[in-house]
Amino acid sequence: MIITANNPNRKSWLDVPKNSDFPIQNIPFGVFITKDDIITIGTRIGDYAIDLGALHQLGYFDGIPLTDDIFLQDSLNDFIADGRKTWRLVRNRIADIFDVTQSGLRDHKEHRAEVIFRMDEIEMLLPVSVGDYTDFYASREHATNVGTLFRDPENALMPNWLHVPIGYHGRSSSIVPSGTPIKRPIGQSKPAEGTNTPGFGPSKLLDFELEMAFITTDANDLGDRISIEEAEEYIFGMVLFNDWSARDIQGWEYQPLGPFLGKSFASTISPWIVTLDALEPFRTDNPEQVYKPLPYLQVEGKKSYDIKLQVGIKPEGKEETVVANSNFKYMYWTMVQQLAHHTVNGCPVEAGDMMGSGTISGPTKDSYGSMLELTWKGQNPIQMNDGSERKFINDHDTVIMRAHCENENVRIGFGDCVGKVLPAEEFKK
Ligand code: CA
Repeated sequence: MIITANNPNRKSWLDVPKNSDFPIQNIPFGVFITKDDIITIGTRIGDYAIDLGALHQLGYFDGIPLTDDIFLQDSLNDFIADGRKTWRLVRNRIADIFDVTQSGLRDHKEHRAEVIFRMDEIEMLLPVSVGDYTDFYASREHATNVGTLFRDPENALMPNWLHVPIGYHGRSSSIVPSGTPIKRPIGQSKPAEGTNTPGFGPSKLLDFELEMAFITTDANDLGDRISIEEAEEYIFGMVLFNDWSARDIQGWEYQPLGPFLGKSFASTISPWIVTLDALEPFRTDNPEQVYKPLPYLQVEGKKSYDIKLQVGIKPEGKEETVVANSNFKYMYWTMVQQLAHHTVNGCPVEAGDMMGSGTISGPTKDSYGSMLELTWKGQNPIQMNDGSERKFINDHDTVIMRAHCENENVRIGFGDCVGKVLPAEEFKK
């Protein structure tokens, strides 16, 4: 089926500001709540949120096989479970409804009032009920930097890393939408030199991790696996993902079983899921792999995406400082390899599961995806625009992540992924 929604020549009768992340070619999916406390599934064009539940009730999706309440829900899970054919039909239809040549909704004042909201009239919620969250570790530069900082510079990359897309199972209960404040976590840390008692208290080394995550549909039953050729069919779309990390807690707890409380206190996502279909024009060459992977991980065709990434830190009441610029294409392992690997043992993947890429670090020092790497564990503090310095994230700092793709015709973006750090609860033993 042709993705007519992607036609770069389309224009909408809704106003779209220049350089908006959300032209009519994007049509992402999300969940929002209106001032009247109505929760609905929606999309966004320019600075307008569009109520898909209302559009469906008014008959604008006639002819597409959808259940009556598919958009009148507080998560996209059921819609995602409908599969790629339905996603495409709905995106194509939305593009037609809002196309500048179509007057049906445009000229229907009452319908428009029911369907279209300004972004400042609504609040974004989590787009999916995340059943399972897996975090990969798929950037070679990040794995090398962390191996150097935490373990052994001589053997920074573990011997398995170039053969296996490394990952671990995270907590889905602490995934929150952009804008949710993040309380500094409390935990144990390594005993000070010459002592035997671990430290305990608010994390002193709070960090962000610049990641993206993909959201899957129902993919396989227990015991079945997804081949790499079909893996893409099961990926609905992507979000920006800030996988907050407490480096001092992490450094003390992570051996031998890996990340735990230093990671599980919070992860922030951008609230609009940008579909893989919308990202179609931005496919790019897969990274060259050092070793030919095992056959079940061998990729054909372009499965990487050119998505520009940026991180800024904004101290309270002060100007923002951009601290990193990176790109999703730096990932060593592609999403299809991750999904094929995830299911090779027969573990089921379901609609609404979320797979984090792992921190995305590029080849240059200004493209690293965490403060741990940018400041080299605090040795080279970042000079901020307000004159202060940062080794890690301070209380009342806001971390802002952005992502967009761009070519000569169109810009597809993700909107901001924002979180402000609040002080730890008053310290109790
Ligand atoms: Ca992570």
